[in-house]
Amino acid sequence: MKKTGLFFDFLVSHAKIYGFIFPSSEIYGGLNAVYDYGPYGVELKNNIKEFWWKSMTQLHENIVGIDSSILMHSDVWKASGHVDEFNELLIDNKDSKKRYRPDVLIKEHIEKNFFKNPKKKEEILSRLYQSLKKKDLFDIKILIDELEICDPIYKTKNWTEIRHFNMMFQIKNKRNLYLRPETAQGIFSNFQNVKQSNRMKIPFGIAQIGKSFRNEIIARKFIFRMREFEQMEMQFFILPKEEIKWYEYWKNIRFKWHLIFNLEDKKNYKLCEHDHDHLAHYASAGSDIEYHFPFGFQEIEGIHSRRDFDLKNHEFFSKKKLRIFDFKKNYIPYVIETSLGLDRLFLAIFYSSLKKEKLKNGNIRIVLKLPYYLSPIKGAIFPLVKKDGLPEIAKKIFNNVKINHKLFYDQKESIGRLYRRQDAIGTPLCFTVDYKTIDTDTVTIRDRDSMLQKRIHIKEISKIIEKETGLEKILKKLSYLI
Ligand code: ATP
Repeated sequence: MKKTGLFFDFLVSHAKIYGFIFPSSEIYGGLNAVYDYGPYGVELKNNIKEFWWKSMTQLHENIVGIDSSILMHSDVWKASGHVDEFNELLIDNKDSKKRYRPDVLIKEHIEKNFFKNPKKKEEILSRLYQSLKKKDLFDIKILIDELEICDPIYKTKNWTEIRHFNMMFQIKNKRNLYLRPETAQGIFSNFQNVKQSNRMKIPFGIAQIGKSFRNEIIARKFIFRMREFEQMEMQFFILPKEEIKWYEYWKNIRFKWHLIFNLEDKKNYKLCEHDHDHLAHYASAGSDIEYHFPFGFQEIEGIHSRRDFDLKNHEFFSKKKLRIFDFKKNYIPYVIETSLGLDRLFLAIFYSSLKKEKLKNGNIRIVLKLPYYLSPIKGAIFPLVKKDGLPEIAKKIFNNVKINHKLFYDQKESIGRLYRRQDAIGTPLCFTVDYKTIDTDTVTIRDRDSMLQKRIHIKEISKIIEKETGLEKILKKLSYLI
């Protein structure tokens, strides 16, 4: 099946039916742009996290991890610039009562109407970026009027003025606490603690996986843009004069890391350098790794040079020295950041792995062709029939092997149906106990992708699962690239 918009609807329903992703608080009608991960979703997510974590903190001996708290002192967000700068623009249509980002309205309008006129497109974009940079909201409104942009639903031009909107969620208490909008500040505020406790020497990195919260104005597209999401971030502290070297290094390594998943076509990935007018408030250089989602190329990871922006501001606000002392010299290190959205990566992997395959007999099989090392369940064990002692043998094998691997035992349906269900959740290997097992201690092993079957000895099961689904092979491949 071609992956059209309809395929995306199918994906959302597959994710729900098979226990990967549920809408949050569904029994109360749901909560916009918030989702829960179900039993297989959480396993897949944990496996992605494990791969990222090991890629960062195990393959790089100079990168260590932390797990900082979501709530932080409110001065953190003054120092980081989020209180003043972490704003989006918004505009309302008075007829539809819908809220939009004016920059997005303009971009979508020119994509649709000027795709055959790249010069005009460039001209409008450049004016938009200039106005954004100068914070000239009045000119952006004029641009909307000049382009005669209508509400996408009501088709009217009855717009309000443009306003700023801070995207942090504030907690109503005396101390003005915020839910963190990025995990990075937990790393910066622990810079001295980590450097001292672990005796880190420049260059070194601190990695963290955790929840972030942003009050997104337009939060659509399933788990692509959520109000509560998870980030996998790494801040790499360097000598200021080595900024370009390390920026290029991390751009290159992170791009290769994504390609190593081998999801469908390499053409689905792009590495895009930001022009200077389009950088976040903390960055002096930045690039995005983009993935080709059904709604176009979109960012999944950002690589930024934050220079000394954060540590310098934290020094100022906290009055504590956040420096490196080297041979009587002291300096604030520069920082290269790699910031990956776990949920967006999950969506890219899920989208590219989900297939409707036409079999030789004309039947369609739905199969989630996840990389084997990411699959929620590594192996399934079934008895061929529910009698003659076969379930007991299968259960014994299951109980022995489950110590080392995430397994699934099932005997509820016919073998064909059990295979289909495991295909739909992406289980790489299925083992079936049949009458031959009783005399020979062998089982059949069926491979998810090729659907080929062969017989193996029971003693081999654990080793085969480890070899085929463990992280070792992929980490080794990655280690050659680093
Ligand atoms: P966008 O331009 O798409 O809003 P961003 O440039 O604001 O993203 P960053 O601040 O660089 O994003 O955050 C790093 C990563 O965190 C992004 O590459 C993305 O994968 C993820 N991310 C950011 N906002 C969200 C969100 N609302 N929902 C899910 N993931 C997000």
